Amino acid sequence: MLKINQIWNNILLETEAKVSTLQYDLYINQLQPVGIYRDRLILLAETRALKNIVDNNYKDVIKKCTNVVFPSIIDIEVITENDLDNVGKIEKEVDLPVSSSFVAIGEDKAVFVSQYTFDNFVVGKSNEYAAAVARSVAENPGKTYNPVFLWGGVGLGKTHLMHAIGNSLQRNFPSKKIMYVTCDQFVNEFIESLHDTANPNAMKNFRAKYRKLDVLMMDDVQFLANKEGTQEEMFHTFNELYLADKQIILSSDRPPKEIKIEERLKTRFATGVIADIQPPDLETRIAILQKKCNAKGYVLRINVLSLIAEKITNNIREMEGMLNRIISYSTLVGGDPNDMNIVNDALRDYADASSDIITIDHVVAATCEYFRVKREELIGKKKNKEIVVPRQICIYLICDILGQSVPLVSIGEYFGGRDHTTIMHARDKISEECKRSEVIASQVKDVRDKIYNR
Ligand code: ADP
Ligand code: MG
Repeated sequence: MLKINQIWNNILLETEAKVSTLQYDLYINQLQPVGIYRDRLILLAETRALKNIVDNNYKDVIKKCTNVVFPSIIDIEVITENDLDNVGKIEKEVDLPVSSSFVAIGEDKAVFVSQYTFDNFVVGKSNEYAAAVARSVAENPGKTYNPVFLWGGVGLGKTHLMHAIGNSLQRNFPSKKIMYVTCDQFVNEFIESLHDTANPNAMKNFRAKYRKLDVLMMDDVQFLANKEGTQEEMFHTFNELYLADKQIILSSDRPPKEIKIEERLKTRFATGVIADIQPPDLETRIAILQKKCNAKGYVLRINVLSLIAEKITNNIREMEGMLNRIISYSTLVGGDPNDMNIVNDALRDYADASSDIITIDHVVAATCEYFRVKREELIGKKKNKEIVVPRQICIYLICDILGQSVPLVSIGEYFGGRDHTTIMHARDKISEECKRSEVIASQVKDVRDKIYNR
């Protein structure tokens, strides 16, 4: 049986690869799954406006992605609160046949984005070693390189490569137990099991789940920094898998020696092969854009693609953002996306527009997620240290990222009617602390990374 949230999360993963980040964040990820009615997935939009936008623009893509994962769901329907009473008997948990390419779906099994394959990964000088290593472990898991440690800057294809390994393994070794987790997921699950007093077996189950795998992939392991308990758990998981010749694949935004984790774990991470991914050269960037255009059905001329590739040199995700912007702008004004005037208009204030997208809500959400505190607590009155520091870091980041665009008074209002001098104090305090305390500085950096990696 699959719960409706699991179903929707799997569909979201698939959809995220098909639309721009902006469209995904603004519209698709705003929908709430209600349940299944016969062969239809029912989604709830908070406003009629959102329903209309989704109905008119995104219904087809959501439907297609749903079909890829769950072939038995034929249609989707977006409703608003008012329609809730009129839909028939909705199931919140169903036994769905899952598409054969998603053999390993379910609570403790991985789902891989179908677009993130080796075929869709453009290889150039900057990533050829990492790609070759990835292919090799996909063909011979646990036999050639172990562990594999992939590292490189944000948006350079680490997650893509991991999913490519996963897609390939699932196809070629359907009986192997393969798991992909983000480091955050692992940390959260570990902590939840630790605190699950209702279930005395929670920790045992958690351990068993990770230690019985054939392949463990953990993304963004730099987030293990400052989490001693989870590091210890990871150390034992690692040893057990490694000694049994099970494949371990890790990714990070920096090499093992620069991650702030205990020495013995660093040494483990670095015992196999370490492959870095550097920003791709111009030709590779253009080739990547061409692939993306094919995947999304855009027809753009080479001069437009070159322009994007020249403007953005070290983050593929950002290049895609620019590409999507040109397409959505030209659709909006009814122009030709190959017309250089349109392109220039679309890109004129690209930088401003993309920083606009970050709001107080985003910063608050990222802070809550990172420190695992509730939103009400973060913006509330509690004064214990576990809340005060995250709250001050959050305020500091809001001031730092949003700058003058949000007056201190409004930040104060957002944080439960605090005075603007309190906001100023929090901001200055963290700014100072960043210089003095490595822990605070790295927490600020991690939350900031979270915000930009949304
Ligand atoms: P990271 O995990 O390193 O931050 P991602 O794997 O999420 O980066 O990649 C960001 C985006 O760039 C994804 O849409 C991915 O498909 C794309 N991308 C990165 N490198 C390549 C490549 N070599 N070929 C095709 N697409 C790429
Ligand atoms: Mg990633």
